[in-house]
Amino acid sequence: MISINHKIFDKILDKLKELDYTGYSEQYPPFGSWNKLEPSQAKIKKAWEKTLLDNSDMGLFVNIPFCRRKCVFCFLPVVCVGNNQETIDGFFEDYFKTLEKEAGAYSGIFKNRAFETLYIGGGTPSLMNPPQINKFFQLLNLKFNLKKTRQIILEIHPQDINREKVEAFKKHKVSRVCLGVQSMDEKVLTKIKRRQNFNEIKKAYAVLLKADIKEVNIDLICGLPGQNETSFLSDLKIISKLKPDQIHINSFISTPYTIHSIQGGEKPNYEKIEKTRKKAFRFLNALGYIKIDSDSMGRTHKSKNIQTTDLCLKKSILGLGPGAISRAWSAFRYINIVSWKNYKTSLNKGFLPAERGIQTTLKDEMIYFAIEKLSNTGELRFKDFKKLFNEDFEDVFPNESQKLKFYGAAFSKDKIKTPLGFWNSIRQTFYTSKVMIGGLKNLKLKPSFLKKF
Ligand code: SF4
Repeated sequence: MISINHKIFDKILDKLKELDYTGYSEQYPPFGSWNKLEPSQAKIKKAWEKTLLDNSDMGLFVNIPFCRRKCVFCFLPVVCVGNNQETIDGFFEDYFKTLEKEAGAYSGIFKNRAFETLYIGGGTPSLMNPPQINKFFQLLNLKFNLKKTRQIILEIHPQDINREKVEAFKKHKVSRVCLGVQSMDEKVLTKIKRRQNFNEIKKAYAVLLKADIKEVNIDLICGLPGQNETSFLSDLKIISKLKPDQIHINSFISTPYTIHSIQGGEKPNYEKIEKTRKKAFRFLNALGYIKIDSDSMGRTHKSKNIQTTDLCLKKSILGLGPGAISRAWSAFRYINIVSWKNYKTSLNKGFLPAERGIQTTLKDEMIYFAIEKLSNTGELRFKDFKKLFNEDFEDVFPNESQKLKFYGAAFSKDKIKTPLGFWNSIRQTFYTSKVMIGGLKNLKLKPSFLKKF
């Protein structure tokens, strides 16, 4: 723990979030504190060897970074490939060659390990045509053991899907699909530079059901530019009529890496977004949906993306592709090079394409667990902590427990409960000196920044 004034801590936290070009700021250690990595294989291989001894749940994530164009709200580092099919095919040809090299560099380490889950994210993986889909899966199956994979998830864009593609994905055992709808309001769609309508979504949904892919998650975004509460709730009502297995309600986060921010767009009103999201969750609850995680409601407790739900449990993920994030449980977190060109160059030179990372320990995993539970559910049950780490929370975190009590958390025999609006107090309690010092170094803050407070 580091002792620091509340106001300064909040400012540093805001600045650290600005460094986060992954968009997933809710990780621990926070992305802003990760270090630049030198081209090397040794550190990463060693970290994986340590993790594999620990026997955590193992997932494979593959990022396909291509999109036809970039949506205004999107914070992901995507590569825009346009609409020309020949150009798109050229990108995929290049992609497969490079992915083969990256997968080949890891296949030896994972030769005795089966992957429980595979997540194919993007970008837009559904840009692939059936022969490319076959090539993609052949490549992965050749390098990794996916024979016992329990869930294969795929992200799709409603405009890019047809019967032939869905059948090709189904042949390779894709079992769950995330359909990126985001909004259906014409005015909003024009503002965010996305083109689609409900008929296309209905058609894509029907094609999936026909291919017997019943686990469909529909993604919506709340708080988009030009959207108001009525427009969002109307989208939700229409989507809920399809009765998808899961509905994911993201908040629009205008990181500095969205076109919206770059063009000087207004900052979203996060308070308003939260209020609308709460209404949306209540609406879904009345229809029989249950809360799966902080952003999702599902038809049953099984309606979930196994790889990313409850990431604070004992889970490891090997990420492949530009910008993919890897998590070697209690050893290392790292992100691949985001630039498509530099990612390729690194692999062509024989280096793993990792660009930033941070070593982690079991204690870091314990902190991540505590932050996640207290922030997302408002409580931490001691028996859950004990079950996962085989230690008592208050023995591991005596000072932190005192600090949480001081800030207003309620401790009982079984659990800790945190009041609303406790987000920063939780982080100020658990962020270690290592994280804060690493973050300050990356922020290159001048002493004048601190003098302001
Ligand atoms: S939202 Fe999806 S389709 Fe749009 S740019 Fe981002 S990844 Fe691509």
